[in-house]
Amino acid sequence: MSQIEMATSYQIWPLLAAWVVSIYALYLQGLVVRRVRANERDAGFAWILGGSLCLGTGLWAESILGLLALQLPIPVGYVRGVLLASWLPAVAITACVTWMQTDVGLSRRMRVAGVLVVSAGLCLVTVINVSAMVMQPQAQWHMKMALGAAMVVLLACAPGSVLIRHMLQKPPTPSNKVKTLGVLALMATFVRLGQMMLIGAVSISAGAVCISADQLTGDSLALMLTVAALMPMLLLHLGTIQDGRAHSKHAQLQDSLNQAQAALQDANQHDVATGLLNRLGFERTLRQTLHGDCSTVQQLTVFRLNLDGFKSLIETYGYDLGDTTVRFLASRIHGLVRDGDVLSRSDTDEYLLMCNGLSDEHAVAQLAQRLGDAIHEPCLIQDQDITLSCSIGIACYPVSTNADQLLSHSQDAMLTARKAGGAVYCFYERGMDRRGAEQVDMQRDLRHAIERNELEVYFQPKLRAHDKALAGVEALLRWTHPERGMVSPVQFIPVAERFGLIGELGLWVLNEACRYIRLWHDAGLNIPVAVNLSAHQLRQPDLELRVRDALKRHRVPARMLIMEITESAAMDDIESSLRVFDMLDAIGVRLSIDDFGTGYSSLSYLRRLPARQLKIDRSFVRDLETSLDAQAIVEAVVRLSHALGLQVVAEGVETQGQAEILARLACDELQGFLFAKPMPEPALLAWLVQRGTAVLSPHQVALVTHVVPGEDTLFEWPEMEASGS
Ligand code: C2E
Ligand code: MG
Ligand code: MG
Repeated sequence: MSQIEMATSYQIWPLLAAWVVSIYALYLQGLVVRRVRANERDAGFAWILGGSLCLGTGLWAESILGLLALQLPIPVGYVRGVLLASWLPAVAITACVTWMQTDVGLSRRMRVAGVLVVSAGLCLVTVINVSAMVMQPQAQWHMKMALGAAMVVLLACAPGSVLIRHMLQKPPTPSNKVKTLGVLALMATFVRLGQMMLIGAVSISAGAVCISADQLTGDSLALMLTVAALMPMLLLHLGTIQDGRAHSKHAQLQDSLNQAQAALQDANQHDVATGLLNRLGFERTLRQTLHGDCSTVQQLTVFRLNLDGFKSLIETYGYDLGDTTVRFLASRIHGLVRDGDVLSRSDTDEYLLMCNGLSDEHAVAQLAQRLGDAIHEPCLIQDQDITLSCSIGIACYPVSTNADQLLSHSQDAMLTARKAGGAVYCFYERGMDRRGAEQVDMQRDLRHAIERNELEVYFQPKLRAHDKALAGVEALLRWTHPERGMVSPVQFIPVAERFGLIGELGLWVLNEACRYIRLWHDAGLNIPVAVNLSAHQLRQPDLELRVRDALKRHRVPARMLIMEITESAAMDDIESSLRVFDMLDAIGVRLSIDDFGTGYSSLSYLRRLPARQLKIDRSFVRDLETSLDAQAIVEAVVRLSHALGLQVVAEGVETQGQAEILARLACDELQGFLFAKPMPEPALLAWLVQRGTAVLSPHQVALVTHVVPGEDTLFEWPEMEASGS
């Protein structure tokens, strides 16, 4: 291009105004983006629209201001319509930028495209504005310079948009605001530079005249534009401040609402009088525990402890004393449970206790017993001697499969315990509601059976297989109910176990057995007695004490006593069995594994148990005459037992044939209806007299039982001659 170009210069203040407007517009854009993000969808859209209109106007005005800085030595004016036409792309670019900054999920490709569109848009706005100045001859574009200018705009926009997006993700702290302003100023400077370069790429020939000089012109135009740009932007700024305040106020309100709700919930879930969780709080904790990490919940137990007669205590002494009592008893309960266990006051007279990780039913029963004892211990509250008892209902997870079941099952069990007269614990059992009533009646009666003299010990003889001499007797409990008549132990022993009465019954039988051993000894008869021990008794911590006590009280040597424990009970909790067996063995009491063959004994465990005797279950004896398999099994059991140093007793011998086979198979002792049914003590003595059965001397007893007299016994009596009937 060889023509002489018109000399141009630039006025500084429109440039400055343009620079300030662009920084302000970029800054406001950040505020608008935050408002869009903070608002719901519709309000956000309104912010994009309103923001784009205001900021687009700012951008438009800024671009014209940049143009107005250009000074030509001829009068210049701008075509209104063209200037106005550039407003539309300016608004569109601003909308595009706002949307890009708002949509955090936008792909990288879209962002790159967006930056290209925005840069091109900025250049377009400038080009349109330049063309509003109509020259004669027409102004020419230096294409290379124009492209260079576009590149500068692009280079300003690309990192600028990344930096602004990054700054917008940070909280608007004062230091972040300063940093953001710095970035914006830099970006605005470069964009402005690009636009100036673009204007500079216009070449006007030296003799050209501006034919639009009569249109928009004058020094005041720049000022008007600045004001026109700043006014809506100021309004927008105020709007963002207002909206921000409204939002933070809303957030504060929401915060205090949440706090109030949490406090209310907390109050809702605690018992005011004791500070313990209430029913709601307990239920919530229970649900959370069960819905949480299931690997930590193996065995969850819910105890419902209902204080017997508590309501009448309140009626007599008032709520204040009642609350103090509940608080005091809660501290006792806390002393019995572990750290993670949860205690709540679920009702005026009721606690709910959640324990995780109690190993088995026996551990649960033990804790229930201790809880009952703790409640039952007298306490001095407000100068009143108060002794309470409680009915405990127990439900266990995973038997009760969820929180609702745990709660309702513990309730059923508690009601059953309460109907039973209270002061007992009761495990939930399936169908409890139906069978419950009957069992409850039985349990209630059973509790009074001892004091009403309804219990009696029957004795069934055991004979030596080879000479049919009396080897001992088994003590079998009998209950004569005033209305039901004779109740089988098969029926009432499980009820006693469920209601926590087996300890008392077992102790009574033990004492009776020792009493008779002493009575018979004094009468010249030495008859070892076998007593059955239930699985629950195995876990009683004071079992050793009770046994020692009974032996001492009746002055009976320990070797005269045999304890029978069923195979399944012994194998159920091997560790407890081993402990109890070792302990009884140390005293000198002999141990016998009852109902052998009905459980799943592991030979290695059998070897570890210090038992002296093994009783083959009567189901094997029954089939002996008809089944070779049964014979083979009994033969194998006898061999194995002898190899392990155990005597073998066959139970349920009913026929002569069975007795002969058992003798042939080297069974040591026989017990069954063939010889005698279980009978009361006078009948046993009559039976002995009638048979003329020789009774073993202590020395013979010792031989039969492989116990050296005097070894590990608490008491020993002088040897007597073998006594007959
Ligand atoms: P067990 O210890 O296996 O007692 C033997 C059971 O077999 C007794 O039933 C006895 O009457 C019965 N029996 C004995 N010989 C024969 C026979 O030839 N044929 C048949 N068909 N049955 C025979 P009982 O007295 O009804 O006792 C049942 C179970 O109740 C006992 O089985 C024992 O496990 C339990 N039991 C009895 N008394 C007590 C006790 O004081 N404490 C505990 N914990 N359990 C007891
Ligand atoms: Mg038995
Ligand atoms: Mg048996």
